Order: sequence, then structure tokens, then C-alpha cells
Amino acid sequence: MTLLTVENFIDGASCPAQSGAWLACDNPYEAAPWGRIPRSDAADVELAVAAAHRAFKDPAWGGLTATKRAALMNRMADVITAHAEELARIETRDNGKTYKEMLAQLRRIPEWYRFYAGLCDKINGAVLPTENPDMMNYTRHEPLGVIAMITPWNSPLMLLSWKLAPALAAGNVAVVKPSEYTSASAVRFAQIVTEEAGLPAGVLNIVTGLGAEAGAALTRHPGIAKVAFTGGIGGGRQAYMAAAHNLRPATLELGGKSPNIVFADADLEQAARGVVQGIFGSGGQSCVAGSRALVHVSVYDRVLTRITELADKIRLGDPMSPDTDIGPVANRAQFDRIMTCISWAKEDGARLLCGGGAVADPKGGAALFVAPTIFADVDPASRIAQEEVFGPVLSVIPFETEAQAVEIANGTAFGLGAGLWTRDIARVHKIAARIEAGTIWVNSYKGGSHISPFGGFKASGIGREGGVEMIHDYLQTKSVWINLADEAPYPFPL
Ligand code: NAD
Repeated sequence: MTLLTVENFIDGASCPAQSGAWLACDNPYEAAPWGRIPRSDAADVELAVAAAHRAFKDPAWGGLTATKRAALMNRMADVITAHAEELARIETRDNGKTYKEMLAQLRRIPEWYRFYAGLCDKINGAVLPTENPDMMNYTRHEPLGVIAMITPWNSPLMLLSWKLAPALAAGNVAVVKPSEYTSASAVRFAQIVTEEAGLPAGVLNIVTGLGAEAGAALTRHPGIAKVAFTGGIGGGRQAYMAAAHNLRPATLELGGKSPNIVFADADLEQAARGVVQGIFGSGGQSCVAGSRALVHVSVYDRVLTRITELADKIRLGDPMSPDTDIGPVANRAQFDRIMTCISWAKEDGARLLCGGGAVADPKGGAALFVAPTIFADVDPASRIAQEEVFGPVLSVIPFETEAQAVEIANGTAFGLGAGLWTRDIARVHKIAARIEAGTIWVNSYKGGSHISPFGGFKASGIGREGGVEMIHDYLQTKSVWINLADEAPYPFPL
């Protein structure tokens, strides 16, 4: 098979790493390499940041009126729509998640560009009624400059777009370091929006490579105005420290250990389906995976029976097939991590209901599959209940009272999402207010929209993505004072 070469995209053109080094890219389902990407380092980051700075000042971007910037973003949305299938195929080839999931994401991504395009011409300052009648004071909301965007492998273009759409609408430019496992879709994306939608060269630059090399070089570059990071807490902490060192702001979208709480009065069939879909959708490789099910003792055995039945029906296989529910694990490091977490649960005495290890590749190859795994009677303080697995592993924990459910739900370092399954409306409001999480779903799990803010409490993140207010995270406010009197008001007479 011919191996493909994907290059960096800097200043509107493709180029290899300055060093000439490459990283191999694998197709997790074929368990074979399909190509290579540049192993970039600080020298490539330097080129990309310089190109982005030029583009920021260039009238082709910096001089666009808000109306024209909005029109350009709407053209980007059209181009993404036209290339949705191609981009989804690239993502599935890289991360092994099902094509139907990646395509569903690609079909929604244009809405982010259209939504934020609609905000371009609504970024307006105000004339402020200060106490001095001889002074006119007004505010301007200006773009920050070059935004460093770091993205993970599980939903590559969707998570990039959550940052890029508001950043561009605000007039910024970007240098993106995508995950080393899934860089090809970002590069192709940058090519098509530049060539077909007319995004000026240098506005969107992609530098591929490892987090500790290209990613670290980008986040610590003094020419960066802000860091927008999505990934795990280890890389997030490094990125945050790099931004802090340069006194730059950062938004962080990090991991979770989200609880899905089933009360005794819930529609138990709906709740069981919600629990199973909440953890096993995307093979658990989702930041908001409902990886802990908290179930009231009075319905505990019934829920355990039903979720085990449903988990048994999950079909593992070819991620391109519409009949597949879960594809292979994206990479060996992630597979090893999942195996380690499963062994913790066994060592710590959790009761295994189903799964519990690797499954042979159904086509007889070397792809890495993990069986949907459910552990019952999990100690809420144990490692499997505290650490993010990022795989198809559910921990079920019984509870007796509402207060206990809240205490367990809040008893991890994370706070990304939570599900509540109950028909009691008073309980819904009471518990939703007490749960420490950025998103609460009631009698459903995992919905989201470009119109609604998303992000984490505690170690799950800093800042929000989505919604109208979010655009201000990519703007800075300037206050302008104009003296209307004949004489300037000197603070001390000369
Ligand atoms: P990861 O942290 O390993 O990598 C994410 C990105 O950070 C990659 O591009 C990586 O190269 C880069 N990186 C790593 N170390 C870095 C460093 N020192 N400096 C700069 N960049 C660095 O995460 P992953 O394994 O790709 O993704 C899985 C994680 O992402 C999970 O924890 C998941 O919960 C989280 N995630 C969060 C959200 C959210 O919106 N909250 C969404 C998806 C995934």
C-alpha cells in the first residue's frame, strides 16, 4: 500500500518540518500505517506564529469589515458541508471512531461557523456616561492576536471548531497543533477553507507533531496572545503553566468522571439506555462519558440487569460499517491505559458484570478492541471511580439518599457533566444546583449546541466554549477618553 504524506500548513502553503523529521500515522482498524506527518518543533512553530502575525496585520484579514468577515465564515461553513464526508473518513481512519459519529459531527460543525459569523457585526463597544461632562469615553472590543489551539484525537475538527469559529469571528488568527494521532483532518480542513472559501493565507496555520515538542513550543511562544487547549489534565496543566509564564490567558477543556444518577422514581428503561449510551457511545472516548452510574439501592439490581443486557448487544467492528457501534481503541497508549484501569478495578474488589478486557479483532487482524465493561459495587473512593479511563468502562455505585448521591457525584477532582434520571421536578432543580459540573442533563445524556456554553468545573477546565458570551474570551476591551473641553485637564498645574 502506498503511504501518504501530510505536511504542515503554514502561510497558505504545505511544507514539511524544518528538521525533515516525520511521525508515522496508523489506521487503528487496519492496525497498519497509512502515512506520515511532520514531527515539528520550535523552528516550525516560529514560522507559523510569524505567518499568523503577518496575516493579523494584513488588510486581507485585519482590514475586513465585520460584514465581510461574516460572509467569509459562512463560505467556510459551505465548504465544510461540501467536504463533510471526506473529512469524516479521514477522522475515522485516524481515530477508529465510527464513521457515522464523525460524519454527524462534521454535519454539525458548519453551524458553529454560521452562529459566530452572525456575531461578527454585533461586536460593538459603548459610549459611557462618565461623571465628567467634558470627557467622552467609549469602549472598543478588539481581537487578541495569534491564538494557540491545541486539540485532542477524539473529536478533532469539532473541538477545533469550538475554538476557531469564535476566534475568527472576533478577528483573531490561529496556529493549531492537532493531536499527533489525528492531524490529517486539520491539515485538509485548513487547505479547503483557504483555497475554496478564501480564508487569507496565514490566518489558519497547522503545525503537527508531539505535545511535548510542537505543542510545548507553541504554548510557550511569546508571540501567542492566548492558549485554547482541549485534552487531558497533564497536557492541560503544562499548557496553562506555559501561558501563565508569558502572562497570557488560557481556556482549558479537560477530562471528566461524570456521574449518571438514577433515582428510584426514574423511567428505568430510559435511564438504563441513557447510562449505557452515556458511557459506551464513542467507546467511552468522550470527555463527557458518563463513567460512573450512581443507582438508588431500591432499583439497583434491576438497573444492573438491564444495563448488562444492553451492553451485551453492543456491536464491535469496522468503524466504517453502519452496523458498528464501537470501533477499535484509537491507539496502543490508550489501550494500555484502559487495561491498567480495568486491572485497578479488579484489584480493588469491584464486581465484574461484563467485559473486563480485550476482545479479538473480529476480522482476525491486530486491531485493539475492548469489550464494554461494567463493574458493580464500586467503592466511590477507589481508583476506577476517581480516574478518567477514556474507554468503555462503567463503574456502578449504589446510594441510599439524595445527599449521599450528591456527595458521591461531587467526590472527584472533575466536574464536567452529570445526568439525572428522575420524574421529580423539585428534585431536578435541587440536585442540578448542587452538582459541581458544567453541564447537567435531565432524563437525557450528552446533548449540546453551539448556542449553549460548555465547559468544566474544578479540574475539568477553565472557561467555556459555545454561546454568545464566549466571543468575549477572544476579545480585549479598550477604553478611549476624548477631551471635549478647550483645555486639557492636567492632573497637576505647571
Ligand atoms: P492529551 O492531553 O494527551 O493531548 C491533547 C493535545 O495536547 C494533543 O494535541 C497533545 O499533543 C497536546 N499536548 C500534550 N502535552 C502537551 C504539552 N505539554 N504542551 C502542549 N500541548 C500538549 O489528550 P488526548 O489523549 O489527545 O485526549 C483525551 C483527553 O482529552 C481526555 O482527558 C478527554 O477527557 C479530554 N477531552 C476533553 C474535552 C472537553 O471539551 N472538555 C473534549 C475532548 C477530550
